[in-house]
Amino acid sequence: MGKNMLVVSAHGADWCTRSGGTILKYIEKGYRVKILALTFGERGESGAYWKAKPNSTVQACKDCRKGEAQAAADFIGAEIEFYDFDDYPLQMDVERIRVLIYKILEFRPDIVLTHWIDDPMNVDHEVTGKAVTRAISCAGMLGALPNTPNHFIPDVFFFETTIPLPEFNHFIPDTYIDIGNVIDKKLEAVACFKAQPQLINMYRNCALNRGQQANDWSRGRRSIEYAEAFKRWNPYLGDMLPESTISIG
Ligand SMILES: [Zn+2]
Repeated sequence: MGKNMLVVSAHGADWCTRSGGTILKYIEKGYRVKILALTFGERGESGAYWKAKPNSTVQACKDCRKGEAQAAADFIGAEIEFYDFDDYPLQMDVERIRVLIYKILEFRPDIVLTHWIDDPMNVDHEVTGKAVTRAISCAGMLGALPNTPNHFIPDVFFFETTIPLPEFNHFIPDTYIDIGNVIDKKLEAVACFKAQPQLINMYRNCALNRGQQANDWSRGRRSIEYAEAFKRWNPYLGDMLPESTISIG
């Protein structure tokens, strides 16, 4: 059976900016990748749209942002589902968390990517990360939901916060993925989000910065220029200790 990756994104573009390179690499490996966009980012992350069209409507903005996110997902080769939960502020109540539980049990992802759970600069992101971990802890309980497939817990990795400010958000990566071979394609996907033109430079710089950190840890095993950084939620379970897969030489 093929392997699955689930990516839960607060707004329309977050999944692409923070994990687009990693998603591309997993698609190359044959994973089926499904993105859940809880909102379109219509109120909080559509600055260029509102600047160009100050008299537009929220619905028109949602339609525009949905088209951008769909185009980016199509370009990358991932599936995307939109939930239209409304942003800034995004609220995740019990019913919305249940939507996530059902989705996790139905799709049975091997890997889940989502937002870090402490992000005072962008509480929608924090709310999403916390809702996903709550949903996953429920998905791990036998009998949490009736008439669902067997309970289980996938591996969860949190992606970047809004701005790398660990003094405030305590995001300390423990996992780096080399995205040097897919950075151009990732940034082309990010360019689909025309209402946020600043993202291209922002996330090129972010990938360079994380690449520099990853390269420093590599110590000559591999020259890494661009990377995406993650932090694990659950511990690694295996028969052997996890080894870095970058080759020596
Ligand atoms: Zn966002």
